[in-house]
Amino acid sequence: MTTREAPHVDAVLPPDVLDALQAAVGAKAVIVAADALEPYRIEERGLFRGTCAAVVQPATTEEVAAVVRICAAAGLPIVPHGGNTGLVGGGVPRGGIVLSTARLNRIRALDAANRTITVEAGVILADVQRAADEADALFPLSLAAEGSCRIGGNLATNAGGIAVLRYGNARDLVLGLEVVLADGRILSGLSGLRKDNTGYDLKQLFIGSEGTLGVITAAVLKLFAKPKVSVTALAALGNVEAAVALFQHCNAAAGDSLSAFELISGRAMDFCLQHIPGVTPPFDRPPPYSVLIQLASTRANDPLAEAAEALLADAFEAGLIEDAVIAASDAQANALWRLRESIPEAQKAEGGSIKNDISLPLSAVPTFIGEASKAVEDAMPGIRVVAFGHLGDGNIHFNLSQPVGADRASFMAAWDRLERIVSDIAMALGGSFSAEHGIGELKVDVLRRYKSEVALDVMRAIKRTLDPKNIMNPGKVIIDA
Ligand SMILES: Cc1cc2nc3c(=O)[nH]c(=O)nc-3n(C[C@H](O)[C@H](O)[C@H](O)COP(=O)(O)OP(=O)(O)OC[C@H]3O[C@@H](n4cnc5c(N)ncnc54)[C@H](O)[C@@H]3O)c2cc1C
Repeated sequence: MTTREAPHVDAVLPPDVLDALQAAVGAKAVIVAADALEPYRIEERGLFRGTCAAVVQPATTEEVAAVVRICAAAGLPIVPHGGNTGLVGGGVPRGGIVLSTARLNRIRALDAANRTITVEAGVILADVQRAADEADALFPLSLAAEGSCRIGGNLATNAGGIAVLRYGNARDLVLGLEVVLADGRILSGLSGLRKDNTGYDLKQLFIGSEGTLGVITAAVLKLFAKPKVSVTALAALGNVEAAVALFQHCNAAAGDSLSAFELISGRAMDFCLQHIPGVTPPFDRPPPYSVLIQLASTRANDPLAEAAEALLADAFEAGLIEDAVIAASDAQANALWRLRESIPEAQKAEGGSIKNDISLPLSAVPTFIGEASKAVEDAMPGIRVVAFGHLGDGNIHFNLSQPVGADRASFMAAWDRLERIVSDIAMALGGSFSAEHGIGELKVDVLRRYKSEVALDVMRAIKRTLDPKNIMNPGKVIIDA
């Protein structure tokens, strides 16, 4: 794939619409200067470049509603933006306006007894975590972009990340939602109830809808008891079958305290060692696979280090692992996590990279990695598979780096062909072609390829009902054609 350029549409707002938007949110909160629009037109990976006539930054839910009403009357597309860290081009504007949630950034309430926090959509994820922490609680959603992504974006993409194994995806962390609908009405559902069986669960429609059904303006999120102790270890393994067996072993031995189980392939580690300053080899010999294991407990005196040692000793005796290191300090634990979280950055230094965000039943992961590796290597000799990810969730980032010395552009032009090879294998094994990144613009055709006609019909019907004028992020997720 090469960068998908947009035709230049709607570069200028009609004067009456501009006036109305400025009256609704204040002149300063309507950005129209071309250079200031630029960061909103591009996305994280540089795969897409869009165009928009303005970025509008409302500061309250009522202002969001006013902006949506103005756009609905003018038939102007709206693309909501949080931190613009999405990985599937969901935030790329194709004309119309970008509605930035950056000024919707208040923490409205924290109810310690109810274990909930009520936040506006533009609060940065790390700030939600910090507010919870200051109240001696945990908001567990955690991903490498947490310093810049915003909670509305996390919910709109149903983000996953490194804590899904223990706490679930973003959708599992929400009790209530406030949404501005495509006609400007406010759907107020900021309930903090854990039990509320009163008909359809409307909030779940908007979670994962990637801005195509409405604008999420606030949410009531679940808080959890804060872990008091944790231990991080890295185990070296000979193959991915052993990694799956090790997961079963850890799950049986550690139960709920198993809070992360992340796979790092030998090539992924090798790239980190080569390209990430300060990363040191954890083992004498680089293993074919490593697994980062974290145990955590809310009981301060839980002997987790001893538990990890015993668990790894048993795994060693059973022939599942070849070596292991247990972090002896927070600094060592952070260094192990840095290794895992630097993989995408390290991969960038190796040239073009085609990303596949696959999920599978855990039992099918070894077959998938074996079959998909062979298939892409047959399709393009010299291609380099970089497999890593949230193995405990069955989520493999099956990334492909260009052959050494290949031309980046021609490699990226093979994106669709290689994606299809990989997705076909994942789907045949009962998996998904998009585990946590969503559909956005990148995977609209892929969704159409694999979803049943019935499922597509239901999705289109929902879209038509909630957004009859097709102004909410048109062209993303589901196209009504
Ligand atoms: C380094 C890095 C690591 C990442 N790791 C992970 C990971 O481990 N797991 C994972 O799931 N993702 C990951 N991502 C992807 C990305 O961070 C997540 O998808 C994140 O949830 C997006 O949040 P955002 O605020 O940046 O959303 P944006 O990129 O701004 O928007 C994403 C989509 O949501 C829509 N949207 C945004 N805000 C709203 C709103 N208020 N109402 C309605 N629609 C809205 C947009 O229109 C767009 O379609 C990673 C990204 C990076 C760059």
